[in-house]
Amino acid sequence: MVYLDHNASTPLLPEALDAMLPFLTTHHANPSSSHASGRMVRSALDSARAQVCEDLNAPDHQLIITSGATEANTLALLGYKAGRRIISAGEHDSVWEAAHATHQPVIWPLMSDGRLDWDRAPVLMPGDLVSVMVVNNEFGTCYPLAEICAYAHAQGALVHTDATQALGKCAVDVMAMGVDALTGSAHKMGGPKGVGFLLLKSPHLWSARTFGGAQEFDLRAGTEPVAAMMGLAAALRAVTRSLPTRQQHFSLLQQSLEQALVAEGAIILGQAGPRVGNTTMFIDPNLDGDMLRMQLDKCGVAVSSGAACRSQTPGDSRILRALGLTAEQAQHVLRVSTGIDTTAEHITTFLTAYRQIHQKWTRREVIQHVG
Ligand code: PMP
Repeated sequence: MVYLDHNASTPLLPEALDAMLPFLTTHHANPSSSHASGRMVRSALDSARAQVCEDLNAPDHQLIITSGATEANTLALLGYKAGRRIISAGEHDSVWEAAHATHQPVIWPLMSDGRLDWDRAPVLMPGDLVSVMVVNNEFGTCYPLAEICAYAHAQGALVHTDATQALGKCAVDVMAMGVDALTGSAHKMGGPKGVGFLLLKSPHLWSARTFGGAQEFDLRAGTEPVAAMMGLAAALRAVTRSLPTRQQHFSLLQQSLEQALVAEGAIILGQAGPRVGNTTMFIDPNLDGDMLRMQLDKCGVAVSSGAACRSQTPGDSRILRALGLTAEQAQHVLRVSTGIDTTAEHITTFLTAYRQIHQKWTRREVIQHVG
């Protein structure tokens, strides 16, 4: 099996597994218990929390543990007490739908190359909450958070960012960006599934979306997923320390992949702006993206035609329409996302299968046409 769907989920790093094991076995107490076992677990949890803040350079932020980025984004967008929501047109459904659940958000449009359209930047009001992701999960474009914060803060607005697809792929420095809130998730960077976090600079501006416990500074009731959080902190530390190596690895694979795809007539999305090295989304002018994905799957190659959370509704991509793609073009899209264990041979296997499918199906279409 060649797995090229790392934006959907990437394997657990050994560092994360090692950090989790004691908390799945011997250190099983509830961190809210006041006995010695509970206090020991609480102290480990607090160290993991502090380590994440240190790795993200967020000394002024409080970290709220959640079940993942979906819950963190929901808390960020729904739990914010004041102002309007301003979100980019490229946001993940968890931001998009949470923002639409109770408010009619203002949408900051994208340009066709995936970047933010500054000519159509919304005028902000004091207390507004702007949400723009660090890296887009579909086509990999990176957004200029420091500029966005400067723009928003000058008008008295706050900034939330979803950094889920950025961790382990580009530098994420909360102080340098200046964001007021930041979302992360473990399983996109080599941690376990089912844990994530929301960093908040001014937690008093948010209210809880879950009830029945005082955990997480009264913002997220429920017993903390201790082992998972230990895995998250260890994964973040590992990917932060090896970031230059990871980036080099991703960009070498990306260069060879994209050169070959372009030679086959593919159009790479988001090419103009800065992009992370592990993500390539492209339009295949000849073949349907879902058909291509299924044929590749039969050849043992796993890719996707967009975010896994929306894979039940192919071709219905709000994000692709935000780039100005027609519904017809959106049907021809495929995403390849690499991980730290992806090799040059994996890319070659993908390309060989891709070319074979092309030959077979293009010939079939010609025969059908003649017939
Ligand atoms: N935000 C982005 C940008 C994502 O790519 C994803 C996962 N597709 C999420 C949020 C949701 O993450 P989780 O699986 O941790 O809920």
